[in-house]
Amino acid sequence: MQVFGSSGTRGRVTEELTPDFVLRVAAAAGTVWGVDRVALGRDTRLTGPMLVNTAASGLASVGADVDRLGIVPTPALQSYAADEGVPGVMITASHNPPAYNGIKLVGADGVELSVERLEAIESALLDDDPAYADWDMTGRDRTVEWAGRAYIRELLGAADREAIAAADLTVALDPGHGAGALTSPEFFRELGCSVHTVNAHPDGHFPGRDPEPVETNLSDLGHLVRATDADVGVAHDGDADRAIFFDETGSYIEGDATLAALADATLSAGDTTVSAVNVSQRLVDVAAATGADLELTPIGSTRIMTRIRELQQAGERVPVAGEGNGGVIFPAYRINRDGAYTAARFLELITEASASEVVAPYNGYANVRRNVHYKDEAERATLVERAGEWARGTEGEVTTIDGYRVDFGDAWVLARPSGTEPVVRVYAEAHERERATELVDRLVEVLEAAAASGG
Ligand code: MG
Repeated sequence: MQVFGSSGTRGRVTEELTPDFVLRVAAAAGTVWGVDRVALGRDTRLTGPMLVNTAASGLASVGADVDRLGIVPTPALQSYAADEGVPGVMITASHNPPAYNGIKLVGADGVELSVERLEAIESALLDDDPAYADWDMTGRDRTVEWAGRAYIRELLGAADREAIAAADLTVALDPGHGAGALTSPEFFRELGCSVHTVNAHPDGHFPGRDPEPVETNLSDLGHLVRATDADVGVAHDGDADRAIFFDETGSYIEGDATLAALADATLSAGDTTVSAVNVSQRLVDVAAATGADLELTPIGSTRIMTRIRELQQAGERVPVAGEGNGGVIFPAYRINRDGAYTAARFLELITEASASEVVAPYNGYANVRRNVHYKDEAERATLVERAGEWARGTEGEVTTIDGYRVDFGDAWVLARPSGTEPVVRVYAEAHERERATELVDRLVEVLEAAAASGG
């Protein structure tokens, strides 16, 4: 998959991502789907209306009517697609900066397309031969204004409303000017929480913060938690399919700790959970302690969701999966990432204990990361090969899904070429910083020696 990459197609609008490209992707998707109706939504980006218009034209040109949902979270578009039994196109760049936009494609089951389906659309795109409809069969469009409301109703039905309302929680919310600004405040209020917000008006300039919910972007939320004496802080990315949390003291909670806490509360012996190859030791430990299997995929939510479907088809139970970036998947609800639903599941955990107590067992891990630069493709290949030799020579369990990961039981180390820079990234995680540093240093030394000797 060159066009769709690990999490859809994204780029700086008009430089990398042009209206023409969006039109061609929409026409190719409409050609492969061959359906008479498609849902179309967007996040709050300034370029959203322009790209929605070209996507609508592409879809209509191959005979699909278009349901325009306007600004909705990606999981709201997915909920609509599943309810109506129509595929969907979402114009969003998720957590990327304001100048970016992109396309996510959703099947008629409300689930992001599998790698296989995306490849079919990618090859239709490269063939550049859309199945244009006759003039009188081209699609019409209509505006659907209730998709956000229907999504909130679905969320309320899926969450443990009674327990959350009984706990009388105060939620500080930072939707980051994204699509979640239109649904999450109402959802948490209807769950029975008191809600205080910051950066809660939809604004494609993202004046208050960048769409990515990482600690450095979220200082407003920490202040809001303290100022309002909230029980928890919740932050979304631009299309609100992710949730990152702050505890009741206004401290940032690592996404890996949240994922481990949610997995611990959800997994039983014999279950399988799925994460990417850079998965935290926290989830490794939870899976081991529970007696659940942990399956790893290449990095990217599309890969994780594709693997969940394969496991389910093979009869495995996969109640929870995801990554430490706030993208958690509860397949019994839907095989998607949903920031509001993830937050509701976290609220369920803090009905009995404070947020800091809930995540305390999953703190106390250290991550170390270093880069090894390479000059050219030959040197890159040498470094990867040496990493492989080193990995196989250790006592650990080697995973070769994406670079080389070695699990030692108490710690892991991963060497993986970056997709964007001429470096091999070396990561490690352990309970003790010393242990993680030692693993990274050992592997970096091997790679640097290989680079210095010219292979
Ligand atoms: Mg997102």
